[in-house]
Amino acid sequence: MSSHRIKVLSKDIVNKISAGEVVERPASVVKELVENSLDAGSGSISIEIQKAGKQSIRVSDDGSGMSSEDTELSCRRHSTSKISSSYDLENIKTLGFRGEALASISSVSNMCITSCVDSEQGATEICLEGGQVVDKKIVGREKGTTVEVRNLFFNTPARRKFFKTDATEFSHIVNVVGHFILAAPDIEFKLIHGNKNIFHVTKDMDLKDRIGCVLGEDLANNLIKIYFNDALFKLCGYISKPGYTRKKRKNQIFFVNKRYVQNATLSHALYQGYFSLVERGRYPVAVVFIKIKPDQVDVNVHPAKLEIKFLNQSIVHDKFKYAVNQTIQNFKLESGREIGFDKNVKFPKSNKNKSGFAKPNGKNIEFDFERKKGIFEKLSYDKYIKADGNRYYQLNNTYIVDVLPDKIKITDQHAAHERILYELFSKAIEERKIQKQNLLLPERIDLSKEDIILLEQQLKLFKTIGFEIEDFGQRSFNIQAIPAILKERNTRNIFRDILDDIKELGKNKANVTEEIIKIAACRSAIKAGDKLSEQEIESLLRNLKNCKLPFTCPHVRPVQIEINIKELEKRFRRK
Ligand code: ADP
Ligand code: MG
Repeated sequence: MSSHRIKVLSKDIVNKISAGEVVERPASVVKELVENSLDAGSGSISIEIQKAGKQSIRVSDDGSGMSSEDTELSCRRHSTSKISSSYDLENIKTLGFRGEALASISSVSNMCITSCVDSEQGATEICLEGGQVVDKKIVGREKGTTVEVRNLFFNTPARRKFFKTDATEFSHIVNVVGHFILAAPDIEFKLIHGNKNIFHVTKDMDLKDRIGCVLGEDLANNLIKIYFNDALFKLCGYISKPGYTRKKRKNQIFFVNKRYVQNATLSHALYQGYFSLVERGRYPVAVVFIKIKPDQVDVNVHPAKLEIKFLNQSIVHDKFKYAVNQTIQNFKLESGREIGFDKNVKFPKSNKNKSGFAKPNGKNIEFDFERKKGIFEKLSYDKYIKADGNRYYQLNNTYIVDVLPDKIKITDQHAAHERILYELFSKAIEERKIQKQNLLLPERIDLSKEDIILLEQQLKLFKTIGFEIEDFGQRSFNIQAIPAILKERNTRNIFRDILDDIKELGKNKANVTEEIIKIAACRSAIKAGDKLSEQEIESLLRNLKNCKLPFTCPHVRPVQIEINIKELEKRFRRK
């Protein structure tokens, strides 16, 4: 028996392992190929997808192209034209630099690269299967490069199994392409799925137009410009008007030196920049470009290059926070009026400079820091006398205290309503009927492409639980009817929150319908902090009584706590 068990792995296996890091799903291939096209100085990039990328992904550009030798070299591991020394590694100006993407992708697919530097000399086409070159020829092509990737993971069946549904995989692609459309506002992009035109943004569409196209008009109409500039740090883009927030952080899109990144420092600074205007659990929107010296960021901390590290995190944090802060203040001063804040939120005072916030007409603006504290720290209550002389209290607009002859029942209003709606929606699905309320004026909602793709998948389910939705052209939908139980609520917001949550689903969730019902119940339910009328309290408690499982919400949190006399006596050790 040989004396050593450790072997140096073959090139083939090394490539496959590395492909595991770079290529997680079809969308990762799209990301790497488009990055290469951008690095090659293209003006127009076209992305054609078949079967959500599971069948094929083809990216064509009009960039620099590659010579015949380079075309072949490009698929070797650690081959790149973008850096050559470790100095370069600290001063990266391109999106790619690891020299791994094409090698990794080609090792787990069938790939053809066609590239041309000068159309008179023709183009080189190289085809690889599982990383091995199987064909090389000269063909005709304009200057630029086309890379086609077919049968991703054909030789690693275990990974193919991890593909999600077409809708999910394609929504990831839409998301990735959307980021590029925003990141490179001077470049034309086309995204085609099968025979469907998903995006076509032309060079004359500016950032605002593109935000409307990618993230929805509704969001685009609620933005203000942000700008900041000093020696270290330049920043521009858009952030949401105070009062416009979303349920998920997904609509905080940051580009650092044109690279889309996810970064907690930036999210935190943004949040803080809004003073305390943002409700807990909601997120302001941002499409922000940061330009910083390349040696001030480390982009080499994540195989897919999605995360970065700032050399000096706290400076970046404070400058960004300051920029947001100023933008909000100026906006408030300029508009000089209430600007669609959430109902009770008023503009807070600055700690430093009280006089800086006078309205243009000279009157001081009233400030209110108390809203959140009022809900979460102080105790407040409203009292209602019932017909039988007993009382209800609504504590902190959150808990309903029902004083009965022999006990006190405390109900969490959100959890209770969630439980009621959950059972109602489940029943509607079982029996195929639900009480609907037609809207006099249909609510129009503008959605992002990604939302529309998800919504189209779930239209039937929405219909069963009472949402009548009609496609209203390119990017918007009309809500014609809602579940009767939701009348007089802000349907549009509820609906958008439901969609935001559905987007996060899909990861190994066996029963999607069940999950969506839970989401719909949670998002449609009254919230902690909502003031209820006596009738609303009565109907909530009555409906809860009729529930099959009134004790926990669908997320298994308690709905009601009861304290009876016996319990009190026990607690005070009277018996
Ligand atoms: P990286 O982008 O990190 O350098 P890749 O494996 O993605 O590594 O690409 C390898 C090389 O192939 C690049 O450095 C570039 O020189 C060349 N290349 C890839 N795609 C294109 C393209 N679309 N146009 C021109 N050159 C390309
Ligand atoms: Mg690359």
